[in-house]
Amino acid sequence: MLPSNIKIGIIGGGQLGKMLIEAGKPWNIHYNILDAENAPAKDIANQHIIGSLYDAEKIRELASISDVLTYEIEHINIDVLFELEKEGKKIIPSPSILHIIQDKGLQKQFFKNNDIPSASFELVENTSEWREKIKHLKGNKIAAKLRKGGYDGKGVELIKIEQIQNPDYKFLMTEPCVLEEFVENAIELSVIVSRDAKGNIKSFPLVEMEFNPISNLVEYLFSPAEVSKDVEIKCENIAKDCIEKLNGVGIFAVEMFLNTQGEVFVNEIAPRPHNSGHHTIEACYTSQYEQLNRILLGMPLGSTELIQPAAMINILGAENVDGYYELTGLNEILNIAGVYVHLYNKNTSKPMRKMGHITILAKTAIALKEKAKLVKNALGMKLINK
Ligand code: ADP
Repeated sequence: MLPSNIKIGIIGGGQLGKMLIEAGKPWNIHYNILDAENAPAKDIANQHIIGSLYDAEKIRELASISDVLTYEIEHINIDVLFELEKEGKKIIPSPSILHIIQDKGLQKQFFKNNDIPSASFELVENTSEWREKIKHLKGNKIAAKLRKGGYDGKGVELIKIEQIQNPDYKFLMTEPCVLEEFVENAIELSVIVSRDAKGNIKSFPLVEMEFNPISNLVEYLFSPAEVSKDVEIKCENIAKDCIEKLNGVGIFAVEMFLNTQGEVFVNEIAPRPHNSGHHTIEACYTSQYEQLNRILLGMPLGSTELIQPAAMINILGAENVDGYYELTGLNEILNIAGVYVHLYNKNTSKPMRKMGHITILAKTAIALKEKAKLVKNALGMKLINK
């Protein structure tokens, strides 16, 4: 069957859905989305069901007009996905994987039960258990994470153990949590893994996140990462091992920490295209989005090889902008060769909201860093009246 005869249904029509659709346009693939009225992918989806990602009936409606279903966000109604899968609907990745990933506690237990290296942890139901449980953890700091509902660092608190032991400490996270040993001075890395229904597997080259030392926010993503070949191979093997052990079909981001002793710890898995794979659109022979399309359509995996070293900068909502906005510096940025601007079709900005991204390619790592800095410095945002 030609790809254009298969209808793909995406639960969610955010920027990841938008880029998945953009990648399928050369093959004239038909896409249906379910999301709110003003979703980023609204203008390019063939059909748009307006509704909540938790509405079982709307998900059923999407399924009824689609040959295969996927999702671009973890926070969705999973019960109806289990029902639909039982009824024979093709859902990629399988809801059983989403079930593990939606709960950081189950995810950590999965790592532990499958010998996947990950920071030691304890599970707590409520705050009365914290002080006892953290006695089993090493180090002087923990990462406390809500088991459910967190994203983009929301639902994660990095806390000093002595603070928690202080009788006056006010617990902010009262719901069931994972308490995790803090990996000191970690470099944050990510591997995007693609695996098809036949078990063929290909990973994309390792990505490194560079943080701003003052704001502590991710400033740039680079691929390849500046680590030894040994570390690179280790990370790629661990990432593939995770997805094989999950029996995952689809695109997955495996986020990891590398400590100063060269040990690697898996942080978490995302069962969908990921921010750390945006650069693959221009930097790799096959992007993470095209790869997911291929998997959804049952076509062969494409080469994940990097064509040129790449950097990626998120365009984030400025601190002082809440409302209609304009980006500044674009003319300067677009005068630089090898720079690709992606905008997510969002009318209004909020501080830290992901509004777009910019991919930068260069022949050498040094040239890449210079160019990335130029782009970062030129980029700005201002509030406008509308
Ligand atoms: P989210 O799912 O919201 O992205 P993460 O679990 O990735 O949350 O945590 C957000 C950030 O917190 C990470 O990118 C990292 O900087 C820091 N972090 C989380 N867990 C640890 C840990 N065990 N050790 C060190 N830093 C951590």
